[in-house]
Amino acid sequence: MSKNKSSESVKVVVRCRPLNHKEESNGPAGGIVQMDIRLGQVILRNPRAPASEPQKTFTFDAVYDANSKQRDLYDESVRPLIDSVLAGFNGTIFAYGQTGTGKTYTMQGAWMDPEKRGVIPNAFDHIFTHISRSQSDKQYLVRASYLEIYLEEVRDLLDPKHGNARALELRESPESGVYVRDLTSCVCKSIKEIEEVMNMGNQARAVGATDMNEHSSRSHALFLITVECSQPGPDGRKHIRVGRLNLVDLAGSERQAKTGVQGERLKEAAKINLSLSALGNVISALADGRSSHVPYRDSKLTRLLQDSLGGNAKTVMVATLGPSPQHYDETLTTLRYANRAKNIQNQPRVNEDPKDALLREFQREIARLRAQLNHRKWRSKQKKEQVDGEGWERDGDEDTEAEEEEEEEEVVEKEVEEYVKLEEQRLEMEKEAIRGDQFMLAEEKQRLLGEKERMMGDLRKEQEATEQLTAKYKAMESKLLVGGKNIIDHTNEQQKMLEMKRHEIAEQSRSEREIQQQMLMQDEETLELRETFTSLQQEVEAKTKKLKKLYAKLQCIKAEIQDVNDEHVRSRQELEQTQNELTRELKFKYLIIENFIPPEEKNKIMNRLTFDPEEDQWKFQPLVPAESKSSQMKKRPTSAVGYKRPISQYARVAIAMGAHSRYRAENIMFLELDMTPPNTASLDRPAEAEPNQSHSLDNSPTKDRGVRKSRSWCQTPKSMASSSSNASLAACHTATPMAAQ
Ligand code: ADP
Ligand code: MG
Repeated sequence: MSKNKSSESVKVVVRCRPLNHKEESNGPAGGIVQMDIRLGQVILRNPRAPASEPQKTFTFDAVYDANSKQRDLYDESVRPLIDSVLAGFNGTIFAYGQTGTGKTYTMQGAWMDPEKRGVIPNAFDHIFTHISRSQSDKQYLVRASYLEIYLEEVRDLLDPKHGNARALELRESPESGVYVRDLTSCVCKSIKEIEEVMNMGNQARAVGATDMNEHSSRSHALFLITVECSQPGPDGRKHIRVGRLNLVDLAGSERQAKTGVQGERLKEAAKINLSLSALGNVISALADGRSSHVPYRDSKLTRLLQDSLGGNAKTVMVATLGPSPQHYDETLTTLRYANRAKNIQNQPRVNEDPKDALLREFQREIARLRAQLNHRKWRSKQKKEQVDGEGWERDGDEDTEAEEEEEEEEVVEKEVEEYVKLEEQRLEMEKEAIRGDQFMLAEEKQRLLGEKERMMGDLRKEQEATEQLTAKYKAMESKLLVGGKNIIDHTNEQQKMLEMKRHEIAEQSRSEREIQQQMLMQDEETLELRETFTSLQQEVEAKTKKLKKLYAKLQCIKAEIQDVNDEHVRSRQELEQTQNELTRELKFKYLIIENFIPPEEKNKIMNRLTFDPEEDQWKFQPLVPAESKSSQMKKRPTSAVGYKRPISQYARVAIAMGAHSRYRAENIMFLELDMTPPNTASLDRPAEAEPNQSHSLDNSPTKDRGVRKSRSWCQTPKSMASSSSNASLAACHTATPMAAQ
């Protein structure tokens, strides 16, 4: 089956859950799924077809019926994959199927019940048990991340601000393939820690949705574990292998049209279907083997699973089924999907010494801290020996073994502690001596005491810094797991593993038997053909039998073609329906744009829009390109050169001709001093007036003032008031003598 030596096909297993209470109470029809565990076959009965119609049979790598245990599935189908991951391969397990068929049950299961723990908790157990059992020259670093894809957006489930966090971007690097930028990754030292990470993510998932079930059937969840292992190679250098494990719980694969959703929900459904149909297209393209283009880029999910499907990974697909007759169509679709996936060829290889291995960084940092710490301790030790009056001699042997080094380190540590203690005591004693010295001056005593105090402070500071450094070093070192150490109870675990190994061997011989049985069956068929017939009658009988068999097969295949055509038509109709819906909405948006947005504004917006294929979104370009911003701001429009604001040609001519002020672009209002004649002119007038007129002036001073006020509009109200009152006063004064004359 394999195309070349290093390629292997995707392993596909099918699991059927038991009938639930509701389905049981629906009627005695029973399930429509039968399984032959020995041959790895699923036989599907169409509840609507007449009994004479042949049943559909599919063959897979393994099948698990309603009575299957979680442990069976793990030991037989998942364990080899996790072992590969621990050896440095990439591995993926994904659960595919309709909502409610047991994807989450298979992947996670019931955590509390050891019998019902799913693939993920069993994998945690497996990984950490393996580390505890491995040789002590191996160092491990285990990291975990958890994300979900909801409405084509990647969200980090370990981010504390999950609810408001923005969607993450996908990136690609030649080293590690497609990865999620800025994804949180937690270093885990034990099963308990990695379980906590998982729980944290599950809570974030539950908080993000009002209805957990609803949400989980609409989002894809990916739990990622990276296991880095460093081991000295034959060349004496440490080599790092990195295994990445993706544990994927996909969204429900049911047809969304069936649920009768509309509007927002339909769009959401279209997006879920987008990821799953893109997955289907990728699987088809890969299984087909003829198409040169594999549409990985059509959805986030397929991009993230790019390596797992047709790339550098070992992959197991668990297709889950429900036994209920009312979901016959969905079950058939799932089986077809799974059947196609069987033909995908992957090219897994060990990831050796990748540049981005975190373990390498950790090792370097630890070495740096250790060197710093050793230097400090050495300094303290030297001081001690100076105090003791001995010369300090270091062993000249450079190639001291790690163990010896450690021992020596411990000795040094003890010596340093001793030295600090002795030094403190010595300082205390000296202080006492100074205090007790009666011949010393009080001032001198104070100075010496202060000095000793300072020395003690320094000593303490030094010690504190060393302690801090030690704590940092230990924390860093504890993150690396070393093989052969007791993470779990050792002996107990070994016994368990031994049992498991026996179990595995039994499983293997069983599967060997299966294969042999299959071969035997095939042999029988070919033998039948080769048989030499003793009589014509016999030959006719045998050939008729063969013909009947082949005819039945032909009928089966014809029915299959009909089914596939029907399904194709159905999915096309659904797509058309979605398209109609979207077109209607588009028309509505166009109507709004045409009627309510000015065309020039629309054009401006359209010119600024660009499509970002990375994010699958339209984006606005900045109004002014950043680099030319300053120069653009300085430049003035040509129509405004020499003027404060743009001005038209007509207005320029009009200004030149001294025409109406409306054509002036500036200084329409003159702010120069008002040149109205001084008020005194009108004030003088009453003085020169006829005596008969002065009488009338005297009688109506207010009226006269009002008139003058209105003329002197450019004066301030105050001066206006005073001048007018002065004027009237002056008028009075001049008028009175005149009247008196
Ligand atoms: P999905 O994640 O596919 O939507 P779930 O895993 O939530 O479906 O399963 C739906 C229900 O069926 C759960 O209550 C689960 O306990 C039950 N179930 C699924 N598979 C099995 C199984 N193999 N054995 C027993 N119960 C199962
Ligand atoms: Mg689920």
